[in-house]
Amino acid sequence: MERAIEIGTVTVGRGQKARGALPLASCGDGSSIQLPLLVVAGHEPGPTMVVSGGVHGDEYEGPRAIQIMWRELDPTQLRGIFLGVPVVNVPAFEVGKRESPVDGLNMNRIFPGRPDGFISERIAYHFIHDVVFKADYYLDLHAGGNAFAMVPVVVYLETGSDEFILREVALAKAAGLDLLWKGTGHWSSAHVEAARHGILAILAEIGEEGRCRQDRLDLALRVIRNVMIHAKMIDGAPQLPQQWIVVAGTYMHSSVGGCFYPMRQVREMVRQGEAIGFITDLWGQVLETIQAPYDGLLMSTRTLPSIRPGEWTAFVGKILDVWEQ
Ligand SMILES: [Zn+2]
Repeated sequence: MERAIEIGTVTVGRGQKARGALPLASCGDGSSIQLPLLVVAGHEPGPTMVVSGGVHGDEYEGPRAIQIMWRELDPTQLRGIFLGVPVVNVPAFEVGKRESPVDGLNMNRIFPGRPDGFISERIAYHFIHDVVFKADYYLDLHAGGNAFAMVPVVVYLETGSDEFILREVALAKAAGLDLLWKGTGHWSSAHVEAARHGILAILAEIGEEGRCRQDRLDLALRVIRNVMIHAKMIDGAPQLPQQWIVVAGTYMHSSVGGCFYPMRQVREMVRQGEAIGFITDLWGQVLETIQAPYDGLLMSTRTLPSIRPGEWTAFVGKILDVWEQ
C-alpha cells in the first residue's frame, strides 16, 4: 500500500478513508484527551486540505458538516487529502462552552500554543503543528456560539507577499459566501498562524446561537465543497454569489453588566449613532445604550441577555468594498 498520510492512529493509503484520533495528553483518570480525525486520501495526488470545527466548544454546524463531508467523499473522485478535525477543543465541547472548562482559555487567541503549557495551549500546539501544518489549504469553521446571532461570513487576511494575498482573496471569494470580513491578523487565531506559515487559510462563521440549523449546515457543506473545487480536489461547479461585500470592524464591548437586549436584526444596515441595543440592570433601568460607531451592516449581535462588563455586545461591519463577479 502506498502510504498517503500517517497521523495519530490513522494511516491511509491512496484511495482510502479512515477515522481515528491524535492522542494529546493523558488525564488523571487514565483517559486521554485526543483530537478526532476524519481522513480521506484520494486516488490521485493533489493538495491537502484541513477543515476544523469546534475550536470554540459551543459552535456546532462546522463539526456536523465535517462529519457529513467525510462520509460523502468518494476517494476515487478525490485528488489529494481531506483531513477533518470535527472538534478541536474537546474539553470545551463536552461542556458546550466557548472556553475550556479546564483552564478558562479561549483557544482561538492562543495559537500557536505551547507544548508545555495549559491543556488548551497543548491542544492548540499539537493541532497547529501536527495537523494544520500538513495543509496547503486550511478552512476553520466557526459560528456565533451560544450567545450571538451572526451573519454567515468568511474571514480572510491581506498579509504576506502580493502573490499570497491574491491567492488568499481568491480563496475567500471561492468559498461562496457574499460577505467577506477583512481580518486584521492581530488575534492569535489558528487561521492567522497558518497564513503566517504560508498556508492559504480562511475562517468561516456559519451558524449561531448554539444550534445546528439545517440551513446553516447546508451552507457550511457548500463552503467546504466550493473550497475543494477551487483547490481542484473535486470536480464540480462552485456556487458563487453575484457580488461580494467586504467589511472590516470588530465587536463593541459592554461597560456594565446586566441584561442586553438587541434592537436590530443581523444583516440590517445601521447608521452611525443609531441605537442597536441596550443594557439594563436587574430592575429594568437602562444603564447603557450601544450605538453604531459608523454606518454599516449589522454582522452580529448578542442574543443571550445575561452580560458582564467587558463582554461583546454587537459588531457593525464597515463596508470597504463591493466586488462584482
Ligand atoms: Zn468561534
